[in-house]
Amino acid sequence: MKAHELRQSFFEFFRSKGHEIVSSAPMVIKNDPTLMFTNAGMNQFKDIFLGNSQPGSTRVANSQKCLRVSGKHNDLEEVGHDTYHHTMFEMLGNWSFGDYFKKEAIAWAWEFLNAKLGIPEDRLYATIFEGSGDDNVPRDDEAYKYWQKCFRNSPGHVLEGSKKDNFWEMGETGPCGPCSEIHIDLRNDRERKVTAGHELVNKGHPQVIEIWNLVFIQYNRKSDNSLEILPSKHVDTGMGFERLCMIVQGKKSNYDTDIFQSVISEISALTGKKYGTSESCDIALRVIADHLRAIAFSIADRQLPSNNKAGYVIRRILRRAVRYGYNYLDMEEPFIYRLVPALVSVMGDQYPELASSKDQISRIILEEESAFLKTLGKGLKMISKMIIDLRNEGKAELPGKVAFELYDTYGFPVDLTQLILKENDMQLDIKGFENEMKSQKERSREDASLDAGDWKIVREADDTIFTGYENTREEILISKYRKVKIKGKEVCHLVFNKTPFYAESGGQVGDTGFISSKNEKIEITDTIKENNLIIHVAKKVPSEPSNSFIAEVDTQKRLMIANNHTATHLIHFALRAVLGKHVEQKGSLVTPDRLRFDFSHFSKLSRDEILKVEEITNRMIRENHQKHVIENISLKKAQSMGAMALFGEKYGESVRVVEFGDSVELCGGIHVESTSGIGIIKIIAEGAIASGIRRIEAVTDGKAYEYINEKLAAVEEIASLLKSPGNIKEGVEKLIAENNSLRKTIEKYQAQVALSSLKNLTDNAINIKDIQFLSGQIDTDSAETLKTIAFEIRKSSENSILVIGAAIGNKASIVVMVSDKLVKTKNLSAVDIIKEISVEINGGGGGQPFLATAGGKNPAGISRAIKKAEEFVRKM
Ligand code: ATP
Ligand code: MG
Repeated sequence: MKAHELRQSFFEFFRSKGHEIVSSAPMVIKNDPTLMFTNAGMNQFKDIFLGNSQPGSTRVANSQKCLRVSGKHNDLEEVGHDTYHHTMFEMLGNWSFGDYFKKEAIAWAWEFLNAKLGIPEDRLYATIFEGSGDDNVPRDDEAYKYWQKCFRNSPGHVLEGSKKDNFWEMGETGPCGPCSEIHIDLRNDRERKVTAGHELVNKGHPQVIEIWNLVFIQYNRKSDNSLEILPSKHVDTGMGFERLCMIVQGKKSNYDTDIFQSVISEISALTGKKYGTSESCDIALRVIADHLRAIAFSIADRQLPSNNKAGYVIRRILRRAVRYGYNYLDMEEPFIYRLVPALVSVMGDQYPELASSKDQISRIILEEESAFLKTLGKGLKMISKMIIDLRNEGKAELPGKVAFELYDTYGFPVDLTQLILKENDMQLDIKGFENEMKSQKERSREDASLDAGDWKIVREADDTIFTGYENTREEILISKYRKVKIKGKEVCHLVFNKTPFYAESGGQVGDTGFISSKNEKIEITDTIKENNLIIHVAKKVPSEPSNSFIAEVDTQKRLMIANNHTATHLIHFALRAVLGKHVEQKGSLVTPDRLRFDFSHFSKLSRDEILKVEEITNRMIRENHQKHVIENISLKKAQSMGAMALFGEKYGESVRVVEFGDSVELCGGIHVESTSGIGIIKIIAEGAIASGIRRIEAVTDGKAYEYINEKLAAVEEIASLLKSPGNIKEGVEKLIAENNSLRKTIEKYQAQVALSSLKNLTDNAINIKDIQFLSGQIDTDSAETLKTIAFEIRKSSENSILVIGAAIGNKASIVVMVSDKLVKTKNLSAVDIIKEISVEINGGGGGQPFLATAGGKNPAGISRAIKKAEEFVRKM
């Protein structure tokens, strides 16, 4: 059975059991402060388990793209070294939200694997929770009973497991419960006879592995660590699709399935390395085949590789792939980007976002690969230099700190550092390195830590009603609150029954403002979303939370935000009109002060294009288009009206459309009533943020007015400095011309100085072993003069060494020249001389054998440096 057929058969099976098949949520998570990437199928349903929102359907199933490379689940180091952990993988899952429980979940899992797919009973094992005295949770007898019914012929295949494997928790706090894992034994009969399968379950044997985890959510873990029983119980299951494929296709490794095979053959074709020839090669092929998927899918989800957070995680994955290619497949040129078409042909059908951003994915990977290969080259050079230094100092161990710096600043992998050191009979202070790593991890944990207390319920309430489209002021009740420590500072999170505050999303920042009751007024510094929960960040806990409050949005800021948000739509529209329909939104930021808009386009915008965008948007402002909002229509209908859906964005069943004239967008944000409110749009910056992605920054209204006035003020100032207010351009041109002619005069003067010094130098030259040694301090304030002299001597004499210096300001400059013939015949180098003498001027330098220069902080040392050079030549 082919992979895609298997995926379909899972869907069909659960559809036949009354499940609605939903699509995968994006792999990159944008509105959950506790999670950067989806790492399990349940993530997108977290709100339902937490009771923050109601499910559309109580039975759902899907295939979810997951990434396990950071946080609680990090499999990165396993990937490639084993054959069944991936960075990005698909998790098949079925869910019950307060609907069926253990009986059906177990019976259906069994039916699907055993009856439908024909996986033999004697190769399967199931585990149940053994119970925990600490938590006062009994053994899961219920699950045991249902499993016994499945394993009729192999009763010994139902095993007990500890809290580590068989009690699942969402996080430190929150929904949790016992789980049952299903394992498979893939070993051959001979091995199975020697060691019974049940002895190898959960023991890390590569052929006895977990395939499916059925979680029975029945408790809530509170922050004091106690468990409370949930009023309604849920089922959450997750099965590794690649592993299931391996089983069904009769393979021993996920990489032997059709999911990976075509990509692996493509890598072989590009690198000339066949799969199955050597262990290290195979690991590299697996690493690359795996990482390609993770990178491609996250770029398709609009998460580009970058320097921080989620982007940095992606960059690290890509670099790991490049490095394995470099170390084990001898790939010193970019090649991973060329694998994208092969990946798209396997997965593009199920995941159209991949197919549609194919070219962009290739381009971005190429760019990253090239940059990192350069880094690798640079790192290699640095290590060679360090090895020489160590050797000179008679040492054989590289300090951990240095290796960490190479790793952290240049992304230079530590195992490569170790390898190179080994080749040079040296070693790394690995303890020191690990200590540096540990303290960095601690630093970043502290930075990211968000220490949240339990929610204190003030009153039972449904989902918060958002009234901010119409109102900025509202009488509200607090439904719950909690204290949160962020980086050591305590704030309070508040949830209301209704709110006029817009929570940060879709690029628009959260509202700020106040809440006030009859006895206090508390500042709201931000409004954020945790999944669908609207949270107001308050400076302190209200003294009487049960009071009623007036919630008031800072309307001045709100107005500026609305201006900028609508302006973003107009810019998007204008960009498509000016540049073409390939322009797609790739990201945006809307703040009160300015807006930022990222979009796909291949080249720098010309001045003309920018002016056209400004012209179109400002005309739309003057035409005063009214806002036209359509709430609650289907995504299909919205798209037929011309609105563009973004890949990597999660849309609900119904969407909101915002129109201004011909601009039509899917948007949940806040906008002006009509375009004239924006006043003016002025683009203040345009540049590239990644290959094929440009960024525009702009300001509107008062900020645009300020910006333009500032620019005009600068022009006026220049005019008054030039004393030619009429024609600034002419004035500046005149100034440049004057400057050029002055420079020429100076150069002439310098040449004269050089000439007279030249004469002096040759007059005072001394002869050392048939070499004409010229030296002296030159009176000049340009280091260029020194070089001019050096080149003159080099031209005119075959047998000379020249060492000259000058005090320029409070710095010293030295130039050493060695005639070409001496370089060749006597193997002399100006670099050696400069290295020897530059300590005297407190500096350093380098260059080429015939000419080297040095700069230093001590002009008083020039004469000593010259003397030293003379001694050096005498000693040769
Ligand atoms: P393992 O012990 O094998 O790492 P797990 O306990 O981390 O698995 P769960 O968190 O229960 O796994 O995830 C559910 C299922 O997802 C697993 O049974 C497995 O089939 C699959 N799975 C988990 N991690 C990976 C991974 N890194 N790559 C591929 N499949 C995975
Ligand atoms: Mg795991």
